[in-house]
Amino acid sequence: MSLTPKLTGRTNQLYPKKPGTTDGVSILIVDDSPVRLQTIAFVLQDMGYKQIQMAANGLEAIERIEQGPTVHIIFTDLQMPECDGLELIEHLGQRQYDGSIIIHSQMEKRIVDLTIELARRQSLYLVGYLDQNLEPTVIQSMVDRALLAARNYNASDLASLSKEMILRAIENKNIVPYFQPKIDNKTECVVGFEVLCRLVHPISKEIITPDRFIDAAERAGLMMLLTLALLEKAALEFNLLCEEFPDLPLTLSINLSPGQLDDDKLPSTFNDLCQIFQLPPTRITLEITETDLIEKDTRLKNLARLRMMGFGCSLDDYGMGFTSLAQLEHYPFSEVKLDRSYINNIASDPYAQQLCDKLVDKCTANHMQMVAEGLERADDVEYLSRYHNIHLQGYLYSPPKPYTDIRRWLHNWEAHRSINP
Ligand code: C2E
Ligand code: CA
Ligand code: CA
Repeated sequence: MSLTPKLTGRTNQLYPKKPGTTDGVSILIVDDSPVRLQTIAFVLQDMGYKQIQMAANGLEAIERIEQGPTVHIIFTDLQMPECDGLELIEHLGQRQYDGSIIIHSQMEKRIVDLTIELARRQSLYLVGYLDQNLEPTVIQSMVDRALLAARNYNASDLASLSKEMILRAIENKNIVPYFQPKIDNKTECVVGFEVLCRLVHPISKEIITPDRFIDAAERAGLMMLLTLALLEKAALEFNLLCEEFPDLPLTLSINLSPGQLDDDKLPSTFNDLCQIFQLPPTRITLEITETDLIEKDTRLKNLARLRMMGFGCSLDDYGMGFTSLAQLEHYPFSEVKLDRSYINNIASDPYAQQLCDKLVDKCTANHMQMVAEGLERADDVEYLSRYHNIHLQGYLYSPPKPYTDIRRWLHNWEAHRSINP
């Protein structure tokens, strides 16, 4: 019996998604079939996208892209006269196109898979494929994913905090850990929390989310200070939760910025901190985003050292970077988190299903824990129930919450679990 619908009281999306931005998004559809061009354009227009261009083959597409303005997403067919989808992709690779690509094609799956692999090798963001299924919900989740991945699209119009503001918040202990639970999909047992950083604005006292300060803190070289301030509070509160729920195998996941892994002292610093805060390293997982994990020797060495000390290391946002499944087994990760853009709507997204299948196999074969993050919908949880022992995280269970609220949430969760073991 599943806890999810009872606890949430709803079977579908609990929290509204951030309003999807359609303004300013520029999309190019490439196809030699006027009917398919029009059909896709019509679905996108219906979703609110206004800047839509069309091209009948790869050559026309290249012209459009070169003429500007910036194209954020390209939907392309593979089989076209004059310049086909493969040539278009090759050209985009040569000019280091930093938008996103979605394939729509009725070609045999092996050809589509090969195209996906070619795009990955050229560091292109190919984020999905559509077959005959032009369901608006499937297209919507692909466009959402495409916008998240597109490096040439900046959705954030929020003002970043200044270096001084961030420093002031650190000095005044205005850094607050928010905890989001992770749940085992078979036992429905809470297995741990990811700690997400929040900052209390020094003047207005509003709670500020990371999109307004992590980049700025990275640029200003403040990430280690910020992580320390966060860990100090999070360790205390996490230990309280462990004392109160001694039967739960709780772990604490902490995000690291990739630059932090360049520091050779990072493993020993973390080891010392864990002793000071009385946290066994085996209970700590360090999350690092896939998009930034370039094959730098120092980073990999430090990851390996952290693992030797007993820390867990998690590859975050998998699917948004260029790590192939084959490369995964050469990295010292104990966990992989499939990005939420694949998880949201996975129940009806064949591309995401295929990636998830392969990732679960890879994780099982290499003793890595697989985490599905960003779960908002009960039908996606239902879909994921086919896998054994994966961990689930998302608003459907709980958004990140401060200590007092997450403690209350955990009491409720455990109370329901003991009624429906
Ligand atoms: P992330 O590590 O991928 O964390 C997950 C983000 O997705 C969090 O956003 C979380 O609130 C959000 N999320 C969780 N479940 C759902 C869901 O079901 N639907 C949706 N739409 N979103 C969900 P948040 O807290 O705003 O953090 C954003 C990013 O900021 C994090 O992404 C992480 O990369 C970074 N970040 C947060 N705290 C830290 C930190 O202490 N250090 C570093 N280096 N980065 C941090
Ligand atoms: Ca994370
Ligand atoms: Ca993530």
